[in-house]
Amino acid sequence: MDKRPDVTWDDIAGLEFAKKTIQEIVVWPMLKPDIFCGLRSPPKGLLLFGPPGTGKTLIGKCIAGQSGSVFFSISASSLTSKWVGEGEKLVKTLFQVARANQPAVVFIDEIDSLLSARTDGEHESSRRIKTEFLVQLDGATSNKEERILVVGATNRPHEIDEAARRRMVKRLYIPLPNDIARRRIVEKLIVDTPHKLTDRNLEDLVEQTSGYSGSDMCQLCKEASLGAPYGLIIKCSFI
Ligand code: ADP
Repeated sequence: MDKRPDVTWDDIAGLEFAKKTIQEIVVWPMLKPDIFCGLRSPPKGLLLFGPPGTGKTLIGKCIAGQSGSVFFSISASSLTSKWVGEGEKLVKTLFQVARANQPAVVFIDEIDSLLSARTDGEHESSRRIKTEFLVQLDGATSNKEERILVVGATNRPHEIDEAARRRMVKRLYIPLPNDIARRRIVEKLIVDTPHKLTDRNLEDLVEQTSGYSGSDMCQLCKEASLGAPYGLIIKCSFI
């Protein structure tokens, strides 16, 4: 990615454990590569899994914006081709370019679509792409001291290939936001909008939205914020 998203760690509400772990894996080894080597070398794979809309992609964007490493954001569509053998070559090239630009982070959103479990009935080309990916990630040709981190995000961790799951050494569950996180999301969203919400209103809102994801909270605030302009328009149309 040549344009980095301006998402900061502060923009992610809650998820303190996940944020801390990611900073340990991504940021610290970059600041002090001499300490994080040998047995202390950071893991090569990180899997973020959990319900949809809880901030997995947001974490990926934050890593892209905040880590000084070269960031590759890829999806299944960027690795498939109509030509036989081209997909594997693209995977190989991706890792070669990442190796040449270390430290690098390869982010794969919805990783289950790219690395789903290998079955007998699947197409040969997708199977070869998966195999090449696994070999490049941790195979005979890869070096232990390489500083390439593959970050995968998924809602369906059980559908990922067993061998790929093994290579994702760090697996972080990204849960639904708790009360404090939901309140922070709302407070952040309404900061630029004029409103008359009191502390008590916010408390009620947080209480009534138990089980909502971060994305649900954003949608709720958007809908609510449109109430005032809609009311005004309806009033004007009657006049
Ligand atoms: P997914 O986990 O499905 O990848 P996303 O990261 O795409 O979900 O989240 C969708 C939207 O929900 C984000 O763009 C963000 O606005 C909001 N969101 C989700 N979780 C959080 C969070 N913890 N803090 C702040 N915003 C959040």
